[in-house]
Amino acid sequence: MPEPLLDVESVREALADFPDPETGRGALAMDQIRDVRVTGSDLRMTVALTSHSRILWPDVEHAIEARLRGHFADLGRLTIDRADHARPPMKLGEIGLAAKSVIAVGSGKGGVGKSTISVSLAYALLDAGSRVGLMDADVYGPSVPQLTGTSDVRGVSGTGGNRMEPVVRNGMPIMSVGYLVPPDQAVIWRGPMLHGAVMQFLRDTEWGELDYLIVDMPPGTGDVAITISQAIPLTGAVVVCTPQEVALLDAVKAIAMFRKVNIPVLGMVENMSGFICPDTGKRYDIFGRGGARAKAEELGIAFLGEAPIHIALRERGDDGATIDNIHDPVVGPYLRSIAHTLVKNLATAAAARPARPALPVLG
Ligand code: ADP
Repeated sequence: MPEPLLDVESVREALADFPDPETGRGALAMDQIRDVRVTGSDLRMTVALTSHSRILWPDVEHAIEARLRGHFADLGRLTIDRADHARPPMKLGEIGLAAKSVIAVGSGKGGVGKSTISVSLAYALLDAGSRVGLMDADVYGPSVPQLTGTSDVRGVSGTGGNRMEPVVRNGMPIMSVGYLVPPDQAVIWRGPMLHGAVMQFLRDTEWGELDYLIVDMPPGTGDVAITISQAIPLTGAVVVCTPQEVALLDAVKAIAMFRKVNIPVLGMVENMSGFICPDTGKRYDIFGRGGARAKAEELGIAFLGEAPIHIALRERGDDGATIDNIHDPVVGPYLRSIAHTLVKNLATAAAARPARPALPVLG
C-alpha cells in the first residue's frame, strides 16, 4: 500500500473522528482542529480545547501526534499551537449554578483526608486553567474554611435577590457552613434542617458558570448524598480512604451507599499511602500501601491515585495554604495526578458514549 500523501486533506481525514475530551464528539467537526498547514514534511496546526479539558493538554497532543505518525511515516516536525475553545454559555436557570461536572468527594469515616483531597482536587483543576467551585457539604465538621485560608470569614453577603455570594479566594468560589456558624459550635443538624441547608448552598449560591463543582461530602453514609443527588445531577463520587483494612471496610460501605442512590462511583483515592522521609527520601508504609488499589480492582471501579503522608501537607492545611501543595515537589505530582486521572476517565467515558442521533433533515 502506498503511504498516504501528507497534505491538508489527508491530515484532516486522519483526525476526522479524533474526540474532543469534554464531549467525546469529533474535534474536527466542532472546529477544534484548525489551520492545518503542511510545509514539505513538516506539519503545523492549531488545536482548541475547552477550559473543562485543560488538564488533558499533554494527553491530547500525544494522542494527535501518535495518530499522525501512525498515518504518515515520513512526517517531519509537528507543531501544535494551543487555543481556547469557547462554548456558548450554559443557562443558569432556576439555580445559580451551571457546572459541567459536579464531583462529590466522600469517605467511609472522618479523618482520612477527604477534605484535603477535595480541596487539592479543586486547586489542581484550577491550576490547569479550569473554572472550579468548591462546596463544603461536610456540615458536621466543615474544614474547607481552614484549608483554604478563609476561616476568618463570618457570614456571607446576599446578592440583592435571594441568592448568596460565595467567598472567592484565588479566583475560586467557595461556600461552607463554616462561614455561617462559629467553628467551635458543633453543627448538630438533622433531617429537614440539614436537607434545607445543603439545598440552599447548592441552589442559592451565585456560583456562576463552572467546569467543575467539587463537593466535600460529610463522612459516612448519611442522607446528605441523597439530598444532593436529588438537587442537582451529580457526575459522580470519588471515595477517599487510607490503606488499612478497617478503613477500607468503611470505604466499601460508602461506595455501596453511592451506588444505592444511583451516584456513579468515579473511583477511589488512597490517602496517607506511605510516608516519604524528608531526610532520606525513604518510604515507610505506616498504614500499609496499595489496599485501595486492590479494593478498587475487586469492586470494578477506577483507582485514581494516592497521596503519601507528608508533614508539609498537614502544616499547610493548618495554615490555610493547601493551594501550595499542588506545586510541592513531593506531594504535588501525586495530587495533580489524581485530578488528571479523574478528568482522563471522564473523557474516556464521554468518548465511549453513543453519539446522539443526528436530527432528521426536513425538507
Ligand atoms: P477528613 O476530611 O477525612 O476528616 P482532613 O482532610 O480534614 O480529613 O484531614 C485530617 C487531618 O489530616 C488534617 O490535619 C490534614 O491536614 C491531615 N492530612 C490529610 N492528608 C494528609 C497527608 N497525606 N499527609 C499529612 N497530613 C494529612
